[in-house]
Amino acid sequence: GGCATVLSIRGLDAFYGAAQALRDFSVELRGGEVLCLLGRNGAGKTTALKAIMGTVHRPHGRLVLDGRDISGLAPEAVPREGIAHVPQGRRLFSDLTVAENLQIGLNVRPVGRRGLSTALALFPVLAERMSQRAGTLSGGEQTMLSIARAMCLDPKVILLDEPTEGLMPAAIARIREAVAQLRAAGVAVLLVEQRVDAVLPVADRVAFMENGTIRARLDIAEVRADPSVLNRYVGLG
Ligand code: ATP
Repeated sequence: GGCATVLSIRGLDAFYGAAQALRDFSVELRGGEVLCLLGRNGAGKTTALKAIMGTVHRPHGRLVLDGRDISGLAPEAVPREGIAHVPQGRRLFSDLTVAENLQIGLNVRPVGRRGLSTALALFPVLAERMSQRAGTLSGGEQTMLSIARAMCLDPKVILLDEPTEGLMPAAIARIREAVAQLRAAGVAVLLVEQRVDAVLPVADRVAFMENGTIRARLDIAEVRADPSVLNRYVGLG
């Protein structure tokens, strides 16, 4: 994969109160490419995604989407520009139905009908459960719903925070298919994972985080040729 840069992120810092959790975070996200952020617990991966969305205080840094500076946008405006976030823990409205949760995605960005049909073709189980409450879905189905809701934005960029965490192998396979399909559709994918084996099948590039910053960047071909290069950064499996 890998075409033009869709989202350029330069020198992003983020703070929780006075505590700095992200330092000089810089990546170029290209359309049709999956960049994986790896790192141990607390390395700052989740904070990096929140800083892109603007949901954590980020006084420094520059975000350029399709050539347009969006650094100053309010958090609620970021998804409307086509940056979708699938947060850790999914953040669904568990008392609302599947259909109502999807409608929330459609309301954010009215271009999303195509995204909805793509998502339902990918996750047919959701189409069967439209009137069921989200909270009654299995863990894997809830993750699928969270990804489907993000796809309703018809996103240019999608940020996925450990989407396979705690799922059964069959659900993990569905999520990987979703990532592959987004990539094939030209979306820029930023995927956070803790487990190396989760990213090897889907990543194009890997960035390792430690102490709130990127310590190393690798092309996936290097990693596949010698997976032991990863041992320095994260646990295998
Ligand atoms: P995990 O996989 O556990 O989510 P992570 O790499 O995503 O790890 P972050 O959640 O981004 O790491 O955390 C980075 C640092 O920021 C950690 O030191 C963490 O304790 C701190 N932190 C995270 N959220 C908050 C918060 N809401 N308030 C204060 N500190 C926070």
